[in-house]
Amino acid sequence: MLLTDDIKSLKGIADKTAEAFYSAGLFNLNDLLHYFPRRYESLSEIRPMAGISADGYYTLEGRVSGEASSVYRNGKNMVQFGFSDGSGSARVTVFNMPWLKKSLFPGRELLMRVFAKRKGMQLYLSQPKFLSREEYEEGLTHLKPVYPLTKKLNDTMLRKAVARALPVAEDIKEYLPEQVTAERGLMSIPEAIRKMHAPKDMDEVYDARRRLAFDEFFLFLARMELLKEGEEKPASSYVIDNGKDSFERFSAQLPFELTNAQKASVEDVFRDMKSGYCMNRLLQGDVGSGKTVVAFAAALAVCDAGHQAALMAPTEVLAKQHYDDAVRMSEQYGLGLKPVLLSGSLKAKEKKAAKEGILSGEYNFLIGTHALIQDDVKACDLALMITDEQHRFGVRQRMSLAAKGEAPHVLVMSATPIPRTLGLILYGDLDVSVINELPAERLPIKNAVMTEDEHEKIYQFIYKRISEGRQAYIICPMVEEGGLEDVTNVTEYSERLKKIFPPHVRIEMLHGKMKPTEKNDIMGRFASGECDILISTTVVEVGVNVPNATVMVVENAERFGLSQLHQLRGRVGRGAYQSYCIFVAGSDDENLSKRTKERLNVLKETNDGFKIAEEDLKQRGPGDFFGLRQSGLPYFKIADIYTDAQLLKETKQSLERIMSSDPESLEKLKAALKEKEEMTYSDFHGICL
Ligand code: ADP
Ligand code: MG
Repeated sequence: MLLTDDIKSLKGIADKTAEAFYSAGLFNLNDLLHYFPRRYESLSEIRPMAGISADGYYTLEGRVSGEASSVYRNGKNMVQFGFSDGSGSARVTVFNMPWLKKSLFPGRELLMRVFAKRKGMQLYLSQPKFLSREEYEEGLTHLKPVYPLTKKLNDTMLRKAVARALPVAEDIKEYLPEQVTAERGLMSIPEAIRKMHAPKDMDEVYDARRRLAFDEFFLFLARMELLKEGEEKPASSYVIDNGKDSFERFSAQLPFELTNAQKASVEDVFRDMKSGYCMNRLLQGDVGSGKTVVAFAAALAVCDAGHQAALMAPTEVLAKQHYDDAVRMSEQYGLGLKPVLLSGSLKAKEKKAAKEGILSGEYNFLIGTHALIQDDVKACDLALMITDEQHRFGVRQRMSLAAKGEAPHVLVMSATPIPRTLGLILYGDLDVSVINELPAERLPIKNAVMTEDEHEKIYQFIYKRISEGRQAYIICPMVEEGGLEDVTNVTEYSERLKKIFPPHVRIEMLHGKMKPTEKNDIMGRFASGECDILISTTVVEVGVNVPNATVMVVENAERFGLSQLHQLRGRVGRGAYQSYCIFVAGSDDENLSKRTKERLNVLKETNDGFKIAEEDLKQRGPGDFFGLRQSGLPYFKIADIYTDAQLLKETKQSLERIMSSDPESLEKLKAALKEKEEMTYSDFHGICL
């Protein structure tokens, strides 16, 4: 067996099963070995029911007593059956498994792990997991990994396949010098992979995880360092010294006064662009702090000086919005901006015209998604490259951009607040401006954390706001970012909502799988008030600005990271109206929902992104496998940029030592990185650059 062997080479995996793995992005054995459990379950010894007083998970053994029943309630199936073990009896409830009813005949023996809750004398059981005798015995001595599943890929398939593939983990080569593994107490990669999949206890998981997280950080940082290596601050042929003049004309016409922080940021930018060196600046400011104006001011200065500027956004929707704003302002204020939109929905002919217009200088402000600007455009005189919502792009992309052509000035904008130490590491090569205040007339957003059974109240509330002329977003539960299931989710949700609301309420939906034109049309209608409720996946997460929308509802809020929720919330509270954000915590799991509530309460208590990031860090201990991935930072599969801050520091130190005083290891590292460049991302232990 080889790491690069197809999943199919495993015993017991035929074409159909292989398809299930492929659709989850698992193609070869190496992919599979890097597909890690989300959490681990432990089994306790079988207990008599009579002795159970505290709520929690227990292992029980007994028999089905009486007929099982199956009913549908609120579209959910519920199977119930009696269960007794000689010491006591209880009712067991199972959701969404209607097929179970048949097999649960009276007298059937059952061994199960189940959640027990005591109310008075009565014991209630739910979420049973039926076990074979072998599973039980195995479970007593080993933790059971719980893998992230898809519709096609089930737990048994995964566990079997992983077990068969494990021996080949031995082939994964070490790339770290021994000194590093020794000084940091890191186990070998094969051992770490083995322990992630088949740990005896949580300590093993932590140690294994630590090794893999180290790798993620290390390779990430190494890449960044090597990219930077030898780069002096490059001189710029674009000396833009007319910033102040064009800015004064622009700002005098704006309907609002810039905040002091905005003004200071604009000054930073102008100073950089005048310096004779390339600007390489990060503009950090919480959602709604008004970064766009700063970007426009910079672009305007460059265009007025006779050059071109580009503004890249992570989504089509956001690019279109920026374009519309640029056109509007340019006309309204008589600015010298000649914007062009490079959108995925352009027809070949329009695209050609756009490109020609860019080359001839007919357009001076290029706005589009990253891919479009990057791949298609040879701007004739590009002096400034702005990236909005920088955290959506990898660091690598940022680097490759700066290295492009005539070395334009670079301004990147991000709403993701990161603690200082991490910021220094992640954005170590950038100068930073911070917008740390919101425009003055904003009313703070009012927040609520609600549960799934309060939907009626929520809809009534939305209806009221709509009747007052406002608009609402509803973010649908996300199954998997960009996955097909999200489409069904959003579609079903909006069908359901259309039945609940009166017909004059205009409801539309938006998801990532739509064509760009379609997305833009819908967003356009929402922005112009022709749609009242927008049901969407997280495609609206970044940047979208519709000040008339005052309600944001996030379904299944527990599935999102705090910072991501904060970003979503940032879609409202952008105008003078009172805005509201409702986080709906939906979970059948009592323990989870309690924790969820605690987490979400942080959002309820503060609207300050920096505080939220800090709180996030405090709340989530290491080894938190329920931990929701922070969005907005380079994506790490295992490592957590907040909770593993200490490890990140250590990684950085180890790397620095190698770079400064261990040329032999450095060469090896470079070779390893180069080799890995040609492989899939799991070869980096999950680094996704
Ligand atoms: P973000 O920083 O999240 O990108 P935007 O730039 O989209 O925020 O700005 C959010 C909203 O605030 C926009 O409608 C913008 O016109 C408005 N805005 C920006 N600066 C100010 C200000 N100084 N006073 C009042 N409103 C402002
Ligand atoms: Mg923005």
